Amino acid sequence: MTGARRFAGGRLVIASHNPGKVDEFAALLESFNAQVVSAAGLGLPEPDESGATFAANAEIKAMSAARHSGFPAMADDSGLVVEALAGAPGIHSARWAGPGRDFAMAMKKVEDELAGAGDRRAYFACALALGWPDGHSETFQGEVHGRLVWPPRGGSGFGYDPMFVPRGHDLTFGEMDPAAKHAISHRAAAFGKLAAACLDHA
Ligand code: IMP
Repeated sequence: MTGARRFAGGRLVIASHNPGKVDEFAALLESFNAQVVSAAGLGLPEPDESGATFAANAEIKAMSAARHSGFPAMADDSGLVVEALAGAPGIHSARWAGPGRDFAMAMKKVEDELAGAGDRRAYFACALALGWPDGHSETFQGEVHGRLVWPPRGGSGFGYDPMFVPRGHDLTFGEMDPAAKHAISHRAAAFGKLAAACLDHA
């Protein structure tokens, strides 16, 4: 990763209005030279996620927060990519759960669309972007590959976790200890790449 612009230290905006995500990134950033503030805490607007890819949407969110705050900003975009569904729900993963955020319904929709397909491969993807107020950005993608099971199993995690079994494991993300999931997750993979390329330890 030569050539990536490095974060020089100081204030770093987490461009998310989701407190769970802000906490997760604050924990990942703990040993680095970043003073974390949230976009919601600064009262920044939420841009439209109008991109066609995870990376484009992560960049839109990071650049918007950087421009509005005057500080470097980090944002992610993630979702479930199902091979037999040509990549759906993909960037629409949250939307498949509807305004009520009903993921039991969203998982059922995935299962119904699979309609007994033999190919049950899927992966979670996370794009993580670091943007600067001058318009520069660096973006990294992490993935965790596995397969879908039915019925869903386990009450941990969120979203599509109960129907996803990561490769090399027997438990779903919904059944796994959260620390075990976080160690192999798409978010951890993307953050590891970004940290190696752009961040210094405190
Ligand atoms: P966003 O990245 O906040 O736009 O949300 C992406 C959507 O993808 C979430 O609402 C979940 O439905 C799904 N998703 C992303 N990461 C995970 C995960 O680790 N487990 C389960 N579902 C996830």
